[in-house]
Amino acid sequence: MGALDIRSTEFWDLDKVDGELRRVYDICNGCRRCLPLCPSFRVLFDRLDVDAVDGDVEKLPRADTKEVVDLCYQCKLCFNHCPYTPPHRWEVDFPRLMLRARAAEARKHGVAFQDRLLGATDLIGKLGSLTAPLSNWVSEWRLHRAFLQAVAGIHKDRRLPRFHRETFSSWFRRRAGQTGARASAAGVAGQTGARASAAGVAGQTGARASAAGVAGQTGARASAAGVA
Ligand code: SF4
Ligand code: SF4
Repeated sequence: MGALDIRSTEFWDLDKVDGELRRVYDICNGCRRCLPLCPSFRVLFDRLDVDAVDGDVEKLPRADTKEVVDLCYQCKLCFNHCPYTPPHRWEVDFPRLMLRARAAEARKHGVAFQDRLLGATDLIGKLGSLTAPLSNWVSEWRLHRAFLQAVAGIHKDRRLPRFHRETFSSWFRRRAGQTGARASAAGVAGQTGARASAAGVAGQTGARASAAGVAGQTGARASAAGVA
């Protein structure tokens, strides 16, 4: 069942995993709502539709059930689409089942070199950006691509992302520094402006007060002259 405890021995038992895969694949076969979502479902339904299988999940070769697992990249879209996720009694949690199948397989047979290599994204990213643009140039060599295909399983015609010497993290830090400096300069300018403006207001007020004073004196003088 989908809510199986990761600490239980059943969770890691490859036969139990296979049974659970077939149970869920059978439900999916009757539903097919997730067909357009990803290669896992396309391959699952293609394999179920061959004459030799004819929709019977028990006839699916193990290699096919594993291929569906290998093609899942854990986007979790199918979980949100599915009307049978827990607490529904069918407990279909497709992404979690894919993870369980992978984990159980890895525990029993280890992680393949290709998977280790492709999973080391930090290391590959560091090496690629440190040696850019050389790394981009080398990745266009046909001989190198044939080597990559043989060792890492990356098809020789697959378009690869380009490496940049400046990483996103360093770009972000640099930009945050610039933004901070600008914000601080704007703050100083704002304070200076505020002070200047305050001084201006004070000046105007003083001038008005002084003008009023002069006017008052003049008025007083005029009034005194009138009395005289
Ligand atoms: S979580 Fe896996 S199976 Fe589900 S849609 Fe994403 S890639 Fe496909
Ligand atoms: S995961 Fe759910 S919604 Fe998707 S095909 Fe299977 S049963 Fe249908």
